Amino acid sequence: MSLVGSKASICILLNEDVVFWPGQRVEASIDCHVCGRRDRTVEFGWGNRATCRKTGHAVGGGLDSIAQSTRPVDDPGELVNPTAMIVDYAFRWDYEPFTEESSGIPSRKRADGGRVYFTLKCPKCNTVDEFSTQQNLVRPSRIQCRHCNHLLAIDRDTQPTMETPDQG
Ligand SMILES: [Zn+2]
Ligand SMILES: [Zn+2]
Repeated sequence: MSLVGSKASICILLNEDVVFWPGQRVEASIDCHVCGRRDRTVEFGWGNRATCRKTGHAVGGGLDSIAQSTRPVDDPGELVNPTAMIVDYAFRWDYEPFTEESSGIPSRKRADGGRVYFTLKCPKCNTVDEFSTQQNLVRPSRIQCRHCNHLLAIDRDTQPTMETPDQG
């Protein structure tokens, strides 16, 4: 097994008094040597939990760390006293080079196309709900309480940003 480290990062602009919890899992698209297919969605959980979505087989690797930080927001737009919530996920996965049979295209050592989950608590009605972000959304995207429609957050920039530092 040859484990590669990758990162997925998000930045969500939270409206005043919204409570935020990062999801305890991350999804990424990797080239899966078990399936012999490129761009398979794999879900990574804590410890050694990683599953290839399409077929359900286990993938070597898992989620290593979740780091949260905040910074001020320069342009609040329609948000009141917003906070930029940044979350960095580090995960590792088993990479073996292969050539995809159907396309003849060689695999790549990099994770892309991620999806990150998070939970928000609405300060108006106290509803707690899970949301997620992924690259192919129309942005900026308004995240509203599903119960009272209060504006909870803005998803402004294309994300999660994905990085595989020792990409080969
Ligand atoms: Zn697979
Ligand atoms: Zn609400």
